[in-house]
Amino acid sequence: MEQSMGFRSVFNLSEIKTEFERAGINTHFIPIIWKYVLQNPNSQPHDAPSLPSSAYPLLLSKFRTTTSTLTSVFESKDNVTTKLLIKLQNGASVEAVIMRYDTRLGSYGGKPRSGGPRSTLCVSSQVGCKMGCKFCATGSMGFKTNLSSGEIVEQLVHASRLSHIRNVVFMGMGEPLNNYAAIVEAVRIMTGFPFQISPKRITVSTVGIVHAINKLHNDLPCVNLAVSLHAPVQDIRCQIMPAARAFPLEKLMDALQVYQKNSQQKIFIEYIMLDGVNDEEQHAHQLGKLLDKLQVVVNLIPFNPIGSLSSFTTSTELNVRSFQKILRGVYNIRTTVRQQMGQDISGACGQLVVNRSEQRSVESASLLTDIEDLHL
Ligand code: SF4
Repeated sequence: MEQSMGFRSVFNLSEIKTEFERAGINTHFIPIIWKYVLQNPNSQPHDAPSLPSSAYPLLLSKFRTTTSTLTSVFESKDNVTTKLLIKLQNGASVEAVIMRYDTRLGSYGGKPRSGGPRSTLCVSSQVGCKMGCKFCATGSMGFKTNLSSGEIVEQLVHASRLSHIRNVVFMGMGEPLNNYAAIVEAVRIMTGFPFQISPKRITVSTVGIVHAINKLHNDLPCVNLAVSLHAPVQDIRCQIMPAARAFPLEKLMDALQVYQKNSQQKIFIEYIMLDGVNDEEQHAHQLGKLLDKLQVVVNLIPFNPIGSLSSFTTSTELNVRSFQKILRGVYNIRTTVRQQMGQDISGACGQLVVNRSEQRSVESASLLTDIEDLHL
């Protein structure tokens, strides 16, 4: 592959658009170039035929198909999870995870449904993360850098060479709404020509950055919103997610209500089950009441211990089931329990990048299944 140091990603829309406009080149050629490099994996943007002659020296001197490199591919023994380790131009690495799913086989204990084979890609939006969630490997890294829109889209480019990607979830490394402009641009690229992924098949996950939620529907109508709530009251939230201090639960719930009123879409609520911390019956009742005014789907996530890094332990199956029963039975909330997969390849976000040690975090690749199961 051609050396890409110092070049920019052709998928970085704002940059290539600016360059084209400055040079008087019609920007409608940009998606045509994208299509060409996607269909010709070893090609570069300047190999695309039938462009205006002034486009060639510009593309040759400034842009490359990918500025990142796929350095490792880890296949899980269950054959459904593939983890990609991707090295960015600045030397940092991020992870992306492909989940393959065949509805006809009724995988993951579910019943066969119509649809056939499909893949979901979990992408990273930052190197590291400043939210510092106590149960997360990425959080333990601290924040390093934001990814550009091109670097986010390049994860889809790398993954598409391995599998046909139908769904994309922003649940990898980083807090997507802390890198707002880049994720908005990346989603717009993914939903446009030639990727053409339906916005309904894209999910953005957040710990609850209120000011960004307030503008998300305007900027990205139709995408799904997942909120990592993890606790029904503010003090427990702050205990396990220090960043929650900046976003009081009351304000977050108000923002979600406005979001739902505007979007008319269900909101996914992620809830990690931590033994003795947030998994008791009283917490289930608190959560049920908290979510009373919203249309939500709750995903309960049995915690995987991070080992020596974490003081948390996994909730008992009994506790998880009774929590689910209360939400369903008393509050009539659709509630699923996440299954664990891909553990043999460190399926949780940030694990490979952190140090490939015993560390484990919550955002296992298995979460993708829930999203697919529920509405795609
Ligand atoms: S769980 Fe998500 S938001 Fe929290 S530290 Fe990890 S990557 Fe950041």
